[in-house]
Formats: sequence, structure tokens, C-alpha cells
Amino acid sequence: MNELMPSTVQCPYCWELIEVLIDGSVNEQAYIEDCQVCCRPINFTVVVNESGAFEVNVSHEDEA
Ligand SMILES: [Zn+2]
Repeated sequence: MNELMPSTVQCPYCWELIEVLIDGSVNEQAYIEDCQVCCRPINFTVVVNESGAFEVNVSHEDEA
């Protein structure tokens, strides 16, 4: 599987809902992406399980 899946997450800084694209070809990944609304860096942790379902967690950058 190698596709980008859209997901909606809530920014931990401004609480706006933002849409992100998740790379479903990687089982486990962590990266930082700026919020589209307040431009602050959000820590993304993404886990994709064997059936293709994925879980996205977001946190403050300084929480890691
Ligand atoms: Zn934000």
C-alpha cells in the first residue's frame, strides 16, 4: 500500500481542526508539521496497523 490518506486532527495550540495527509505506506512514523492556522510546530505520531487502519496522535513540540 502506498497512498496518502486524509485525516482530520485538532491542533494542540489553537484547537482548530486541520486536514493532513497520512502516508499509509509507513507503519510507524513521527514528524513535525506546522499548523495551517497558527503556524506552530505540531508533533505527529502515526501508527498504521496491518489492516490499514491508522491512528494519529498530535502533541506540543515541547511535550516530546
Ligand atoms: Zn494551530
